Amino acid sequence: MKVPFFRFTPDGHEQEYVRQVIASGWLTTAGKTLEFEKKFAQQVGAKYACAVNSCTAALHLAAEAVGIGPGDKVLVPTMTFTATAEVIRYLGADPVFVDVEYGSCLLTPAILEQALARHPDIKAVMVVHFGGQASDMPGILRICHARGVKVIEDAAHAFPTRLGDRMIGNFGDVTCFSFYANKTITTGEGGMLTIEDEAIYKRVKTMRLHGINRDIWDRFTAAKSNWEYDVVAPGFKYNMPDINAAIGLAQLERADFLRQERQRCLEYYFQHLAGNPFIDLPLIHGSLTDHSCHLFWIVLKPSAPLSRNELIEKLNEAGIGTSVHYKPLHRLTYYRERYDLKPEDYPNAERHWQGVVTLPVYPSMSEAELAYVVSAVKQALPG
Ligand SMILES: *Cc1c(COP(=O)(O)O)cnc(C)c1O
Repeated sequence: MKVPFFRFTPDGHEQEYVRQVIASGWLTTAGKTLEFEKKFAQQVGAKYACAVNSCTAALHLAAEAVGIGPGDKVLVPTMTFTATAEVIRYLGADPVFVDVEYGSCLLTPAILEQALARHPDIKAVMVVHFGGQASDMPGILRICHARGVKVIEDAAHAFPTRLGDRMIGNFGDVTCFSFYANKTITTGEGGMLTIEDEAIYKRVKTMRLHGINRDIWDRFTAAKSNWEYDVVAPGFKYNMPDINAAIGLAQLERADFLRQERQRCLEYYFQHLAGNPFIDLPLIHGSLTDHSCHLFWIVLKPSAPLSRNELIEKLNEAGIGTSVHYKPLHRLTYYRERYDLKPEDYPNAERHWQGVVTLPVYPSMSEAELAYVVSAVKQALPG
């Protein structure tokens, strides 16, 4: 049997909506993107949504729009993808790296308080909803609001993720989602910002497309000829084409079903891997029904009879695709050298990273495939 790490299943209206866009003769940003923004905002309960061509673009626009500039400090958990921190460097600002909670890989209010006490000049915080589990946003917002610290959420894993009676997407100043090929819903490449504040929304919209002060696609699609536009800032080219939005609209229709199918995978793993003496399972604070269920991982304990890399090799030989989320940022050459980072300052991230193997999770995984993965893990770690 072969079980890939991820498998895309276009079982909805993906092909139909893409065909509509091609037949319309207008392939880049227009009606489908506007519709995708509107429906996405509705699903997460956000006032504004802005579609872009990646989550990295979304994070960049978010940091720019909340006012991050040269010399500013922005708090970033070390356990994340490089995009969360690189966008801070785009703006000439500096990331301040912090450890995460062991088991959940989340930033906690306690970690945040400590970091702000040490760096009172931190201007913004990047909150990563790791694996699709929500961070404690009420706790984090209470601390940040009291000090005027801006909050940007990296929700690349967190659609759809619930927190209390709200969805992730309307807590912080800006929330950034990813529709990369193997995320919870995809547009091939793509991202979305959700925003409550009108001034931030306007800045994001302007900077998304060259700093042009109005929607340029009106020029091509409006009935009345209207060529004139002005440029008010050196903006970026981050708009989402309608071809991608068409795929996103189809995925959005099935997002809750896809989440439920991933929950089925997580439940299977939790049930069948519980009690193994050589592994730690993810720490879930609330209910799995609130979780986007994007990632499931195991962390090998130091007592395990084989190393993490040996386990990955064994699973690979059995035809099972795995991944590692993540090699923490403090271990990556650029950040380590530039900021003189030491592994001993991030003990929880270190403990996670030394042992972590991310297992396959996707809606089309069958029970036989899940059983095959579990039996391969148990064979490598008999106990
Ligand atoms: C995937 C990912 C990103 C970047 O998303 P893109 O859409 O590929 O730019 C950012 N942060 C995290 C945590 C991610 O997993």
